[in-house]
Amino acid sequence: MHFLCKCGFRLHDSSDKIYYKGRVIADQDWNKFWEYIEKLEKPHGGNTREIYNSIYDLFGMNMYQCPSCGRLFIEDPENRSSLIRFTPCLEGEPEPDINKRLLSSYHKDKTDGNE
Ligand SMILES: [Zn+2]
Repeated sequence: MHFLCKCGFRLHDSSDKIYYKGRVIADQDWNKFWEYIEKLEKPHGGNTREIYNSIYDLFGMNMYQCPSCGRLFIEDPENRSSLIRFTPCLEGEPEPDINKRLLSSYHKDKTDGNE
């Protein structure tokens, strides 16, 4: 995957340890993360791969920061193939009409109901 920032810099996501990429975990999923860690610490019947995959899924939302201009791009949790761009607002500028729930749980159906 690669995409072009508005400033002209091309961001690539085709290798490991990308210095401008991060992963976001929803605060609603944070307790779930620790539940999986506790499962790993206890006897778990050899289903380690399943637990690791569950942890990996919690960190499924990618985030990128353009190293040239600093704009942020976060995957839209409602459409993972699209990115939402964040540009710093200057005082007096109108706020853009964007998804305001970017940090909601990626696993909405698995949360405890706190929205
Ligand atoms: Zn840029």
